[in-house]
Amino acid sequence: MSKILIVEDEPKLASLVADYLKAAGYEAHCIENGLEVISWVKSNQPDLIVLDLMLPGRGGLEICKELRTFSDLPVIMVTARVEEVDRLIGLEAGADDYLCKPFSVRELVARVKALLRRPRANCRNAPAGSGHRRGKSQGFTGWTRRST
Ligand code: CA
Repeated sequence: MSKILIVEDEPKLASLVADYLKAAGYEAHCIENGLEVISWVKSNQPDLIVLDLMLPGRGGLEICKELRTFSDLPVIMVTARVEEVDRLIGLEAGADDYLCKPFSVRELVARVKALLRRPRANCRNAPAGSGHRRGKSQGFTGWTRRST
């Protein structure tokens, strides 16, 4: 199960995003304070980070730059600032994608899925000649058997 870290200081938004990700079959963990992100990432090794730009403690840009010094894990930056320059800075900082607030949580989930499907650029140990395998389908447990 892919583990997603949500760094967001608005608790309602963070839990909404977490709920949607969990419903989509992911494990979701929320952090509110920017200062806690790097150490959490190092000890928990998430598969993807949803990173707010404006955070208490430490800003998303700075966090993203430090992340890139030791990790290539996918980062989706979330920002309420829509100026073009901020978008560029977000990508310069090494983010893989970004979303502007307010955003559709469904769209966020779609982007998470897309990034997790994408092979890492520097992934060198992809098995060769092992046949094409489709990704494991996320078990959808919402079905109930109808007894007739
Ligand atoms: Ca914020």
